[in-house]
Amino acid sequence: MSREQAAALDAADRLAPLRELFEIPGDVIYLDGNSLGVLPRAAPARVAQVVREEWGQGLIRSWNSAGWMTLAARIGDKIARLVGARPGELVVADSTSVNLFKVLWAALSIAAAQSPARKVIVSERSNFPTDLYIAESIARERGFELVLVDAEDLPARLDERTAVLMLTHVNYRTGAMHDMAALSRAAHDAGALALWDLAHSAGAVPVDLHSAGADFAIGCGYKYLNGGPGAPAFVWVHPRHVERFWQPLAGWMGHAAPFEFKPQYRPAAGIGRFFCGTPAVISMAALECGVDTVLAAEAYGGQEGGMAALRAKSLALSRLFTARVQALCPSLTLASPADDARRGSQVCFSHPTHAYAIMQALIARGVIGDFRAGDAAPSKDTGDPTHARDAADILRFGFTPLYLRFVDAWDAAEHLRQVIDGEEWRRPEFSQRHAVT
Ligand SMILES: *Cc1c(COP(=O)(O)O)cnc(C)c1O
Repeated sequence: MSREQAAALDAADRLAPLRELFEIPGDVIYLDGNSLGVLPRAAPARVAQVVREEWGQGLIRSWNSAGWMTLAARIGDKIARLVGARPGELVVADSTSVNLFKVLWAALSIAAAQSPARKVIVSERSNFPTDLYIAESIARERGFELVLVDAEDLPARLDERTAVLMLTHVNYRTGAMHDMAALSRAAHDAGALALWDLAHSAGAVPVDLHSAGADFAIGCGYKYLNGGPGAPAFVWVHPRHVERFWQPLAGWMGHAAPFEFKPQYRPAAGIGRFFCGTPAVISMAALECGVDTVLAAEAYGGQEGGMAALRAKSLALSRLFTARVQALCPSLTLASPADDARRGSQVCFSHPTHAYAIMQALIARGVIGDFRAGDAAPSKDTGDPTHARDAADILRFGFTPLYLRFVDAWDAAEHLRQVIDGEEWRRPEFSQRHAVT
């Protein structure tokens, strides 16, 4: 494909106007929306309004008059539309890690009540570390065992000892996407519960929690939802489970009547009990602007809907980039599934030795992706080195169809070729490790 052909795709792209909703630095091609979404144009003014008017002038009255108390449910209802949850089932609160703690704990309580023999949490070895750490901590505390397997071995490890199957829908390193419906069904067939982390799915790929048979879900506000650094996360529990147990962080905001200030805890009805403490109002105001950018796709999505249109464009961008990189950069190996149906909204390539320096050189040119170190730890199951697919260092490229153009994908591949062919990455400053990669 020529650059002119890429430009023609942009000219025909009905989602193209959505780019105007963002403030994107002019000299940047941003391929890291899977780590931190771009600033929505509406966010600075909205945050200033919350600070100056609602906080500055309204002061404590704003909890009522500015609707601060209902923000978490209101934004939750918006996110619910993106992940196939119903109104009132999903709320914004805390961080992804903290929400995982709450739902995993509750899920284990349900499983244990059903059968004390269910003592195992099954997850994937290449799951995001915080998910594994939280699960390990809970397992230690409550006498469960965390069993980690490779993706292809998951169904076989589900049995009458399994309490919960805990997975991240789209893998943070490789972009590999699980079949949520098939694996939830496999978990249920084994009598276990299915818990899904949607950190790399919400706003990135169509998700339908109800039809996929999920039991619990959590997700992140600052990635594809563009909510800003450290934005609050979300939590969803299927209505059939939500009132079966207390969540472990039973704070006053999850109380049925917090302002009665009673000494005994009484959980709120429904998902409200998954609140813990006072909500981060300023952060939620920014998050709402981000979620609104994703919902704005509904106006352009036509018959198929906003998320379906975003997904189609994300795949087209990813395919263009992948084809160009494979043609121009033979030293790179595709580390994401080639099959569209098995890939989220990012594409990764491995390089045997210099992935970090290549990415730094690319970032210096204004093409921002990121680097993820290879996982050389031995498999807990077999003692063997981990699956070869996960072992190499990788370059990650997130494709956010809300603001990326086809020429961006084309140009990014060309920059990558120049960095490698010109050995630009050899400059010493590109090998210096930063605290955040
Ligand atoms: C990004 C991400 C998180 C982030 O958790 P925080 O609590 O926001 O730091 C958690 N899980 C997965 C799978 C992620 O991709």
